Amino acid sequence: MNELWERTIESLRDRLSAENFDTWLAPVRIDAIEDGTVVLRIPNRFYADWISNHYQDLLLEALQAHLDSAPTRLRFEVDEALQAKVKPRLAPRRKPSKAKRSLDSERMRRGPTPIRVSDLNPKYSFDNFVVGPSNQLAHAASVAVGSAPGKRYNPLFIYGGVGLGKTHLMNAMGHRILQDDPGATILYLSAERFTNEFIWALQNHRIDEFRRRYREDCDVLLMDDIQFLAGRDQTQEEFFHTFNALYHSDKQIVVTSDVYPQQIAEMEERLISRFQSGMVADIQAPEVDTRVAILKKKAEAERIHLTDDVAHFIAQVVKSNVRELEGTLLRLAVKAELLGRPIDLELAKESLRSVLPAPEQALSVEDIQRAVCSYFNLKLSELKSRRRHRAVSYPRQVAMYLCRQRLGTSYPELGERFGGKDHTTVISAVRKISGLLEQDDEQTVGAVEAIARQLGFTA
Ligand code: ADP
Ligand code: MG
Repeated sequence: MNELWERTIESLRDRLSAENFDTWLAPVRIDAIEDGTVVLRIPNRFYADWISNHYQDLLLEALQAHLDSAPTRLRFEVDEALQAKVKPRLAPRRKPSKAKRSLDSERMRRGPTPIRVSDLNPKYSFDNFVVGPSNQLAHAASVAVGSAPGKRYNPLFIYGGVGLGKTHLMNAMGHRILQDDPGATILYLSAERFTNEFIWALQNHRIDEFRRRYREDCDVLLMDDIQFLAGRDQTQEEFFHTFNALYHSDKQIVVTSDVYPQQIAEMEERLISRFQSGMVADIQAPEVDTRVAILKKKAEAERIHLTDDVAHFIAQVVKSNVRELEGTLLRLAVKAELLGRPIDLELAKESLRSVLPAPEQALSVEDIQRAVCSYFNLKLSELKSRRRHRAVSYPRQVAMYLCRQRLGTSYPELGERFGGKDHTTVISAVRKISGLLEQDDEQTVGAVEAIARQLGFTA
């Protein structure tokens, strides 16, 4: 059993960041598989929620690949002995006083077929969703759909980067619809699952049943991560007909994707135009105030004591993705619980040191030279040559300026690195470019900004 577990999580190593793998999977052990339920032992209560919300499908799928039988559920038991495994060097100072609570909640359970209401994640409600400028439109459209499915925004297409709340909104629509109409048949699933079921139905001669389920017996279809259908022609074809059948009977369809409809790779044009025929709403990465609000909301939900200064600190550091934001907060809570320390700024800084942005460190004179060359379409040897023609000297000056401004390299060293120039040449180059920037010289501003962007900083 242990070996099975080892193999299973090993097969997932590449699909998670090293940090998430070490934090969330490495300390977990398997106990048993009974009647399709996998019993996992976890170090503390945070693991149950986190694993159910983030790794459940991955784990079940990976376990299925190693077994003849197909487990469909996870159950968790807290085993404090595993706390020591969380990070060996972080031995707990005291035992957490929290009552042992195995979060074996029925609502978290999922089975592959048929899809049930319980597939909706109870935590992903509108109440738990923080609205900000970055997600306002998608949120408003989702509320409208949740309140009057099949009426106004049909289909609703939500797109945005990973971890920005698409799945959350989709679940929230499901909850709202069920609140108003508990009898509604809502099918909520990923395009991947749709694909797998479709293939299974084909192979097992159950396609009629499949079609009845998706085309006739369905009131609302919530299809997550449609980009998975890229290049899967036959499934796209099936989905196209599913879409039409539902659409023509005024059944609500909601689709999410990580990119704008037109940008989904290898997607049939007719499907794309269907997606665009309704409401298309995007979700962007949240602004800092929204990030703070999200952190506070999560902390409240998880009963984590989070002070304003820590919330602001995390929000400053973790920018791109709400899932990361949430993961950072939970990791911090786990760490605090293990160490018996409060969640304060000191602990937050210690824990986040590895993710603090440090682009300057990584950047070298050579990186800047290369970026400048590629922008101006020059060879590195030309940039370092003695040629004084403007086509070469101007890019060289820009490169010297960026090196000085960004890396603070000394003038003599820069002279050296640009093919043995005198330090006074470097000084006048830097002055000249600063001057042009101050005058808002269009060419210079454009070049510096573009090169900075390419190198991952803002000029
Ligand atoms: P996506 O499907 O876009 O990849 P998810 O919906 O899975 O992202 O969101 C990732 C995590 O971030 C979830 O736990 C979700 O609850 C949370 N989240 C995202 N946006 C918000 C928000 N605006 N308010 C509260 N939580 C959010
Ligand atoms: Mg998602």
